[in-house]
Amino acid sequence: MKISISHNNKIYTVNPKKGIDISISVKFNDNQNPKFYDESYPKKEYYSYNNIEYSIGKGAGCNVPLIYMNIHCSGTHTETANHIFKNGPCISEIKNINYIPSKLISIEPEFSSNENYHVDLKKNDKIITKEQIKSKVHHIDDFTIDALIIRTLPNIKGKITKNYNDNHHAFLSNDAIKYIKEIGVKHIVIDTPSIDKYNDDGKLGNHKIFFTDNKNIPNYNTITELVFIPDKYKDGKYLLNLGFPRFHLDAAPSRPIIYSIK
Ligand SMILES: [Zn+2]
Repeated sequence: MKISISHNNKIYTVNPKKGIDISISVKFNDNQNPKFYDESYPKKEYYSYNNIEYSIGKGAGCNVPLIYMNIHCSGTHTETANHIFKNGPCISEIKNINYIPSKLISIEPEFSSNENYHVDLKKNDKIITKEQIKSKVHHIDDFTIDALIIRTLPNIKGKITKNYNDNHHAFLSNDAIKYIKEIGVKHIVIDTPSIDKYNDDGKLGNHKIFFTDNKNIPNYNTITELVFIPDKYKDGKYLLNLGFPRFHLDAAPSRPIIYSIK
């Protein structure tokens, strides 16, 4: 089966069997997950009722797991304006999350930049700049991008289990976020735990820029963090499916899948 999708008067063909999963799988009761702030890891136990523990390993007829996890801090997740604004939409209110026209770009963050950030930058802060993003997206013919997928370099496999409390991640300049919004991007997908600095004094300045419209009202944009995009998938055009459950929350674990298109 093939699916044909029309975008800006061009037809793109997708093979639904060739989806590329860029999420990090969540392991339970296991330390092998990324960590950001929270040093704990996703936990699982089994529902118990009338002295039966509903685990087939313990002789029950079926598994009924109960889980406890920190959505933002231990794996791939998608978040909305409700993460920072009381009146922002929940993840359950985000529509049109399939076959989103996207571009995957790879960027080696820079140690110094003249671009703006809302708190002072330290010598070892690594920045993804507007200029870097612009150089990768500006000549993209008539393929408008609704989602920008950012792979940071070097792209080490260790990102899957990285503890970001020891090694702080690269983040975007305010100018970069403003530029991304300006070109019409509604969804950011990135392999770092945040688009803001590890500790920006709780300001979450980039989140505030990306999650508001031009009148400062919370919008329906999303940010997906802690993905992993293997090197064999090259920079270029993709369609993105942002799979997540319909939680009445600011975020949910997610499973972004990308489809290569020419
Ligand atoms: Zn988050």
